[in-house]
Amino acid sequence: MKVKVGVNGYGTIGKRVAWAVSKQDDMEVVGITKTRPSFEANIAIREGHPLYAASQTDVANFEKEGYKVNGTLDDLIKKVDIIVDTTPGGVGEEYKKKYEEAGVKAIFQGGEEHGLAGISFNALANYHEAWGANFVRVVSCNTTGLVRTLFPLDRAFGVERVTASLIRRGADPGDKKGSMLNSIEPSLKLPTHHGPDVQTIMPWIKITTMAVVTPTTLMHVHCIAAELKNKAKESEVLEVWNSAPRVRLVSGKEGIKSTGQVMELARDLGRPRGDFNEIVVWKDGVKVVENTLYYYQAVHQESDVVPENIDCIRAMMKLENDPMRSIHKTDKAIGIGK
Ligand code: NAD
Repeated sequence: MKVKVGVNGYGTIGKRVAWAVSKQDDMEVVGITKTRPSFEANIAIREGHPLYAASQTDVANFEKEGYKVNGTLDDLIKKVDIIVDTTPGGVGEEYKKKYEEAGVKAIFQGGEEHGLAGISFNALANYHEAWGANFVRVVSCNTTGLVRTLFPLDRAFGVERVTASLIRRGADPGDKKGSMLNSIEPSLKLPTHHGPDVQTIMPWIKITTMAVVTPTTLMHVHCIAAELKNKAKESEVLEVWNSAPRVRLVSGKEGIKSTGQVMELARDLGRPRGDFNEIVVWKDGVKVVENTLYYYQAVHQESDVVPENIDCIRAMMKLENDPMRSIHKTDKAIGIGK
């Protein structure tokens, strides 16, 4: 029997999670919610996901435009084992009580506070913390990116301290607001929340972060300095990341010098929606000076958290006890690594 999944909030993350669920053989999409008719509602129908209105008042929006909805979120909740809540940051919090009362498990996203679920998730670093849990939060795209490279590094060499500067994209490509056309905005409240967010998964790590928002929509870039406890050569560090899941090494020498070229590679590889789920590290941008490792990584904000949501479903529903088996199963089903 497949695990029955509902997706509440079919936007940037929700539509990708629903698609990824539909590619797995141990779970299925029972329905997705939208608040109003839109091209994304049409995409949901095209991908075969039953459409539900987020609330009773939204039903009229759909019916006016000739859409047939299968009910509301309240109806969907009754049919599923687990809801992946991909509503905008802060909205998931309003739904928690509803999920609790219905006795349905729920995954929240990085826009919610850690305290909402009490467990923050990364498949490689803390899969078992989500084992059988009722509420879990998959951390943000930036936190996922930091944990993906820092956790294997810490396991291999020990990380004494991390300082990271985040060059953030201003908005997602499909957004019509948020990005400034010609300015760079530093986060003035320092250190930024990203460091403490990494600590929700790796509480032992000393990390300080700064961030600026820039007028780009493609990806985030992180500039990271990690002081290591044990000596490491650049080649050894690359070897660790090469065998870590969901980290992809690229090189400027091969012509991948920018986030634009990473996105071009995603399209050339035929990745669905032009996504790049892995964290991209530039091989030729890795340098060890004394005991500090310097590196750059790029994060595709729209898609890196998607496979984590799939593994999180497996852990919460106790479908697979071995994190690496879940990771490989997810990745194979959605074409990561190819
Ligand atoms: P989005 O705005 O693209 O999508 C949210 C969807 O929820 C939209 O379809 C919207 O219509 C719908 N929605 C709004 N209010 C709703 C309600 N009350 N009930 C049901 N549906 C409602 O947002 P997103 O970028 O997909 O972000 C979703 C979550 O994922 C947030 O917590 C965000 O912080 C997190 N996240 C976003 C990114 C990113 O870069 N986009 C990356 C990682 C994590």
